[in-house]
Amino acid sequence: MKITDVQVFTVSGPYTGPDFPPGDRQAQQLDIYPEFNARGNRLKGVGAQYASFFAPAAAPAAQANEQPLRAAYVEIQTDEGISGLWGPVQDFQYFFVLARLRAFLIGRDPLATELLYDQMIRMDRHGRSGMYMTAVSAVDCALWDLKGKAWGQPVYRLLGGPTRPAVPAYASMLGYSVEPEEAARVAAEYKAQGFGAQKWFFRYGPGDGEAGMAQNLAMATAVREAVGDAYTLMFDAFMGWNLSYAAEMVRRLEAVRPFWMEEPVPPERVTELRKLRELGRVPIATGEHVYTRWQTKELLLAGAVDFLQNDPDWTGGITELTKIAALASAFEVPLVAHGHSLLPALHVAGAQSPAAIPYVEYLYRGQPTKQNFHQVVYAPEQGAVRLPDLPGLGIVLDESKIERRTPVTL
Ligand SMILES: [Mg+2]
Repeated sequence: MKITDVQVFTVSGPYTGPDFPPGDRQAQQLDIYPEFNARGNRLKGVGAQYASFFAPAAAPAAQANEQPLRAAYVEIQTDEGISGLWGPVQDFQYFFVLARLRAFLIGRDPLATELLYDQMIRMDRHGRSGMYMTAVSAVDCALWDLKGKAWGQPVYRLLGGPTRPAVPAYASMLGYSVEPEEAARVAAEYKAQGFGAQKWFFRYGPGDGEAGMAQNLAMATAVREAVGDAYTLMFDAFMGWNLSYAAEMVRRLEAVRPFWMEEPVPPERVTELRKLRELGRVPIATGEHVYTRWQTKELLLAGAVDFLQNDPDWTGGITELTKIAALASAFEVPLVAHGHSLLPALHVAGAQSPAAIPYVEYLYRGQPTKQNFHQVVYAPEQGAVRLPDLPGLGIVLDESKIERRTPVTL
């Protein structure tokens, strides 16, 4: 089998999924500048993260309760008629797919995923991390989809699973209000739905002073009181803090007993993460902005993390996440893959020991839009996501939801 083409296309149509309450964004590094901190508190509109600077805007919504949505996909085509699909992907991913990887892949064996991955990360001097690696990751996910379809099996079976019929999901609450009373109400509601764990996002950081810190603590305390003492509760700062702020926050957070404190500082600040962990107040998590097993190894050797969260859509694909899972398990550090992309993480989790990967992340506000154009929507039931039955990753585009399909070219 040979790759004949690698194409990127966008699909657009109305989003008619659940209408989420307006929510708050998380703390961000730029917030130390008042100009950026003063930006709206709200998250961007539905689907904005997939908007492309190459493709035309989606058509206006036909009805008031509909919102236009557009999503981009990578498709790897072969001379045997089997293709691999992965998406939605972001614009920087498909830019590098088209600009750097497409010409290399044409004519090569798509089933040799290890070979192609190794060659893709060696072929560019910047190929070891960052946005280029997210493009390699997207190609790798599409190649695994193709391999599953070629062999008529879900990806987790090719990886040695299933290790369980369903993987527990924690509810990731980005996009909900962080006003304490409202956050507490929503937290209790999700607990009642059967979720055994939730993660909440802090809105405030060093740019917001003592008042912001007090608001962060008020939200965390209210959520803890709403779900009770014996409930798994995580918090995320999206790299928006610095060492001194984070040290004070984890000192005050200790009474709330977080299961983990995620990305208190950016992940390359390994020494700072280790210092926070050594305070012994709160377990420390990071990884969604960590690329490859080598960056991961530095965090593990430094004793800087209690949980890893590499995302298969960014860290190096399914090929790399499988290696990271093995590496992390040798350090007895659980891997809970970031939930930007549910399906690749779900397949890897379904092929690893529950001790190595105890959960997947389910972004409640994000997933309905990400799966808007898919025939089968994967969502937790009683707090766990069932492994897919379909060959490959399990994405089948639903043509009835697609108004327009547009090729993306550079
Ligand atoms: Mg996060």
